[in-house]
Amino acid sequence: IANLNKTYKSAGRTLTVLDDINFAIGAGSTNAIVGPSGSGKTTLLGLCAGLDSATSGIVELSGVNFGGLSEDKRAQVRNQYVGFIFQNFQLLPTLTALENVMVPLELRGEKNIKPRALDLLDKVGLASRGHHYPAQLSGGEQQRVSLARAFSNSPKILFADEPTGNLDAETSEKVVKLIFDLNKDAGTTLVLVTHDLELAAKTQRILRIKGGKLVSDELTAKAV
Ligand code: ATP
Repeated sequence: IANLNKTYKSAGRTLTVLDDINFAIGAGSTNAIVGPSGSGKTTLLGLCAGLDSATSGIVELSGVNFGGLSEDKRAQVRNQYVGFIFQNFQLLPTLTALENVMVPLELRGEKNIKPRALDLLDKVGLASRGHHYPAQLSGGEQQRVSLARAFSNSPKILFADEPTGNLDAETSEKVVKLIFDLNKDAGTTLVLVTHDLELAAKTQRILRIKGGKLVSDELTAKAV
């Protein structure tokens, strides 16, 4: 990320949401982005993942510069490298849990995807809920389906926006374990946005955003 800026225009005013952000994330590392509500964390995560485009500056992922790429091309890069867990899950309401997990695999043109999607649901403890629609699942269950979906393309990098935000302590622990196991077992790079400082301390590095600026960037005890 270099000299990254994001502004929104509304009612004739320009709102600067991210102001000259610079950092690099190492492959295989674990990172947390923290900061007050409204400081720009979700916006930053979306730009890093190529979900949105910057007003100016550079976002590069695995050697691909998102700048100047069309939305279609960004989506291709996302499908190849990125897993994303949204703050509000963003499951497709008209698809079952199983079908939601199958979507990224279908988009990649993979064959024989149903058994793989079932395996992923099993991994998050929801093998028996594959035929349920999102509205028929609890918040924690939806979060786990969204986790299975994010894992399905074996991402090189996983971005998670408040992955434990809506979960009880027990489910939260399970979800955190699944996420960190992905790093341990597959070397997946983790970038987590969180208000939970205990969760942030489990990563190797904490980036703090305030008022759209990167105000601190520190290694944790896990970095050694
Ligand atoms: P939270 O911790 O509450 O989730 P955040 O740090 O993730 O907050 P963002 O969601 O990135 O914050 O929002 C940063 C700022 O950008 C907020 O003031 C928000 O109102 C503004 N913002 C976000 N999206 C838009 C948009 N599409 N148009 C205008 N302003 C926006």
